[in-house]
Amino acid sequence: MVSFELIILGSSSTLPTSKRFPTAHLLKVDERFFLIDCGEGVQMQLRKFGFNPGRIHHIFVSHLHGDHVYGLFGLLSTMGMMGRKVPLNLYGPSRLKEMMAQHFSFFGSLPFPLDFHSPSSDTSIPIYEDEKVTVTPIPLKHRILTYGYLFREKKKELNVRKDLVENYGIGIADVVRIKQGEDFITSNGSLIPNRRLTLPPYHQRSYAYISDTVFDPDLAGVLKNVDLLFHEATFSNNDKKLAAETMHSTSGQAATLAKMAGIKKLLIGHFSSRYKDHGVLEEEAREVFPYTDGVNDGEIYSVPLERVSTE
Ligand SMILES: [Zn+2]
Repeated sequence: MVSFELIILGSSSTLPTSKRFPTAHLLKVDERFFLIDCGEGVQMQLRKFGFNPGRIHHIFVSHLHGDHVYGLFGLLSTMGMMGRKVPLNLYGPSRLKEMMAQHFSFFGSLPFPLDFHSPSSDTSIPIYEDEKVTVTPIPLKHRILTYGYLFREKKKELNVRKDLVENYGIGIADVVRIKQGEDFITSNGSLIPNRRLTLPPYHQRSYAYISDTVFDPDLAGVLKNVDLLFHEATFSNNDKKLAAETMHSTSGQAATLAKMAGIKKLLIGHFSSRYKDHGVLEEEAREVFPYTDGVNDGEIYSVPLERVSTE
């Protein structure tokens, strides 16, 4: 079974605590590892939770605030020390390249190429695409240029019912067409609808990463029906004013957006270190959207592969 798993590597905001590293997520889709943001200590977290940094080929950066990028420098250096030769792709605001160039001017360049990719002005265009997954940037509203990212599986081929292939004597060329969604016409001219010849299709699993931002109800459209949404909840509802001043969100606001978008599951994190117990933030969110979890470092969230009913 093809996996679609999110691993929480860090769940704090600016100040790390003894239990929480700054924000970093790892999304595993069928043996692809996408690292999303790179808080300080990300390479230690990868080691701790059993992931080889050498398997990461794509790193997505939301914005150039320290709690989202300080981990990049150590991680890239380690990749070089481990003998990496293949290119590493970095996605994010265009100044990411300039930031890395400054770093390399002090510490020397890497023994492998870095390929930089920035979202174009048309953010409906995927920033990454392969045969299984697309990644689309989502412009956010923070103090500097910031992007969230939407990871979505591509449509899978339909599974053709073997018993009917034999019954109707369907040839290979026709099986290929049926897998793409076409109907079948028998030798005596009767039409067999595709729906009857195939198993219900798999739904396209999705994960959206939204950090950091003010509450933005306009995001409900792009987040519609996603399986798993991570939305920052730096502050409690009581600190709504502080959230607005620093251009962050509260737990209640994250949950409101989740409800508006009709998503399946909400994860909140990027907690301010001022809260000793994030349970309060979780409760506030659940009052609005019950399917909410406050995340902890090391947790894994899987999205199951399910068939959708076509009836
Ligand atoms: Zn942050």
